[in-house]
Amino acid sequence: MIYPWQTGDWERLQQLRSHWPHALLLHGQAGIGKLRFAQHLAQGLLCEAPKPNGEPCDTCPACKWLMQGNHPDYRIVVPEALAGEAGMPGAEDGEKAAEKGDKGDDDGKKSRTPSKEIRIEQVRALLDFAGVGSHRGGLRVVVLYPAEALNVAAANALLKTLEEPPAGVVFLLVSARVDRLLPTIISRCRQWPMTTPAPEAAESWLAAQGVAGASGLLAEAGGAPLAALALAHDENRTLRDWTIVQLSAGAACDAFACGETLQKLPVPLVLGWLQRWVYDLLAERTAGRPRYFPQANAALAHCAAKLDASALARYLKTVTRQRAVENHPLNARLVFEELFLGYRELFA
Ligand SMILES: [Zn+2]
Repeated sequence: MIYPWQTGDWERLQQLRSHWPHALLLHGQAGIGKLRFAQHLAQGLLCEAPKPNGEPCDTCPACKWLMQGNHPDYRIVVPEALAGEAGMPGAEDGEKAAEKGDKGDDDGKKSRTPSKEIRIEQVRALLDFAGVGSHRGGLRVVVLYPAEALNVAAANALLKTLEEPPAGVVFLLVSARVDRLLPTIISRCRQWPMTTPAPEAAESWLAAQGVAGASGLLAEAGGAPLAALALAHDENRTLRDWTIVQLSAGAACDAFACGETLQKLPVPLVLGWLQRWVYDLLAERTAGRPRYFPQANAALAHCAAKLDASALARYLKTVTRQRAVENHPLNARLVFEELFLGYRELFA
């Protein structure tokens, strides 16, 4: 099933039916359900008794295999780090591809951390799949998620295939970061923008999922309902709220307590909170409205009134610089102490 805000996207897509492109790039904001849409579309393309609007029937053998994750004409390719996620049956992860013995040019294969990239071994395995005929006599469908995770070698290998597409194969690329894709890949795909729901629609959907305080969460998630849902179930929510209290304290922010308390959390997570908080402070300074933490409006206004806008902008650059290296091994405690000390100094 697709999400309720995607029915318009689905209907628009039917205009492609008569001339289905060999590669479709589904793009849009993170957390709006693009992957589920792509999987549903794959099912619709493989279904052996689709409804007039292209919806899969859910009962034919093709639909059943797809839902069980073992349709022979379907592949989904994700980074190893995402392969364990629920709802991705049949994912061809890097481990399986690497076992096929191809000594790729990617580093980190022996590291214990699962790769966040789609690697060339995975794309090569895909090309083997695309090179053989259909098992069921219909289309073969490949989902690549997220397309921005393709590393350079993998993207180039895929590009060769997109330039000379094998007959009967449909590639569905899913991306929240089109700016990170090779322009040559983009130009080989039919681009398909995906809808971010209106706030009211997203809020009522979240309420139906049993989420309390939907509007605040939705704001913090930048309007993306699935990201808001993830926030609602976020085991780190208490610590996030604690961090917001620290940031709200301005000059009284306890930088060392922040280092001590937050050091066990992933660096990107904490940097994301800090970055959004500073964005909201800047919005306050420029008479805009806070985007991410509207529920902390009063604290934001109180802090922003004491800050120098150019010093704040410089500080934001410092946080952004840290984000650029956030996936490298860092001493989280020192990074946090330094950043929260820098934040406190803004109020000196
Ligand atoms: Zn079916």
